[in-house]
Amino acid sequence: MELGERIIEIAMGNGATLAGIASVEAIKVSASHTIYIKMGNYAGVGTVKDDALPDNQLFTWPDSVKSVLVIGLSHPEDKPELDWWDGRGTPGNRILIDIIKRTSQKIENSLNIKTSMLHYYVEKGGIFLKDAAVLAGFGCIGKNNMLITPSNGPRIRLRALFLNAEIHPTGPIAFDPCSDCKVYCRKVCPENAMDEKAPIFKSNAFSERLPGRDGFYDREVCNVRMEKDVAESAIINSGTQHTIKYCRRCEFVCPAGKKTGRQ
Ligand code: SF4
Ligand code: SF4
Repeated sequence: MELGERIIEIAMGNGATLAGIASVEAIKVSASHTIYIKMGNYAGVGTVKDDALPDNQLFTWPDSVKSVLVIGLSHPEDKPELDWWDGRGTPGNRILIDIIKRTSQKIENSLNIKTSMLHYYVEKGGIFLKDAAVLAGFGCIGKNNMLITPSNGPRIRLRALFLNAEIHPTGPIAFDPCSDCKVYCRKVCPENAMDEKAPIFKSNAFSERLPGRDGFYDREVCNVRMEKDVAESAIINSGTQHTIKYCRRCEFVCPAGKKTGRQ
């Protein structure tokens, strides 16, 4: 078994729904990473801005990092609680972090490959996970601006691990469910965030490559809905924190991956 296959087997054995390998060199020239330095303030709704970090400062990844293991965890419609923001993050992301930690230990101990964790936020050392997932062969960027996978559609969340080893990439793959779809995602949006082409930020000229696959996604308009979701949050299950149930309409309506039963 090749090294990449063994790494993927370890990640899947630890609970990942999907796992794949992308090369760091390919990630550095991917669409989001190329445009990132022109973006202005990248902090989104709910992001705590770290004043110690200058705007648009991409973390300098060590030269020793050659590959990235990308993992995905299914977030099906019938388990919405995986995606509920509870002030500390989401339950789904905590599961992903646990899978990454156990996978890191096993790779270091059994394969003798040095690994390092990534911060979730790009401005703190992370990577654009959707770009990395496409390069790792998970699927494509859909017309709803999300990663779309053959097995789970967009109902999947991502995490990654740096590897100090050249591992053969597992993607990209030929997959495009949007090409013959009636584009349900854009019709269902309560804010009409995907009705027109929009720059990623108003301060930025429109990019032919981003946002999403064709520029028909207005992040600031989508953020209006997210602000409403924050305002409508409530304390549930006798907890002490408000739980935010962010809008997922354009995700749940997507037919991709529903036939597999894995969602
Ligand atoms: S609903 Fe259709 S057009 Fe939208 S992301 Fe899913 S497959 Fe693509
Ligand atoms: S998350 Fe909701 S508001 Fe944002 S683009 Fe999707 S459907 Fe529209």
